[in-house]
Amino acid sequence: MPLPPSDDYTDQLSSAFEAVTRNQRERADEMVTKLGVVQTKLDRKKAIPLHDQFQVWQRDRFSCRYCGARVIPPPVLRAASLVWPDDIPFHPHWKTGVTHPVYLSRAATMDHLKPIALGGSNAISNLVTSCWPCNAQKGEFTLLQLGWELLPITTDDWDGLIYAYQALWHHGRQNATNTDVKYHERWIATIFTTTTSSIPAIPDLPTHDASK
Ligand SMILES: [Zn+2]
Repeated sequence: MPLPPSDDYTDQLSSAFEAVTRNQRERADEMVTKLGVVQTKLDRKKAIPLHDQFQVWQRDRFSCRYCGARVIPPPVLRAASLVWPDDIPFHPHWKTGVTHPVYLSRAATMDHLKPIALGGSNAISNLVTSCWPCNAQKGEFTLLQLGWELLPITTDDWDGLIYAYQALWHHGRQNATNTDVKYHERWIATIFTTTTSSIPAIPDLPTHDASK
């Protein structure tokens, strides 16, 4: 379900809140349920396999396909946070003020060219590397709706600092929780078995594809 234009949110919330002030709780619940797109989205969002995520980042040379920013995969940042927990703090929910700003500005994310909410899939051909700020701005919109263009894959040979990941993990492991250990073991197994030759050649997607 596409997100309603933001003006609708204010109208709908206003009606729902008004119902609450009149003690019409059921009516308010009903209205808020209709706004529950985030819930719907989460239910429909299947996790993208780590292997696919890494392939997309590697294909895009660890650079945002919307703004060109160099990005760093979250596991690399999180390993650095284990080594220097006070200088590069990390909070599991990326809580602002507790999580170092590098996560919010430079962490690599995946974006769906055609949003899931519009029927887009988790296929690698529908995924691009995005920095966190671009991902947050893009939301459930298509490139056409935003007037954005997909940048060609950069010629920059930036590697997302992957080369340092194992060394960081080696130094940070002593500070790791069981959850961290599981997280990094999965990522290390993924990254260091994803060879360049296994990456399918994916042509640059024409921008207009995203609007279909
Ligand atoms: Zn970006």
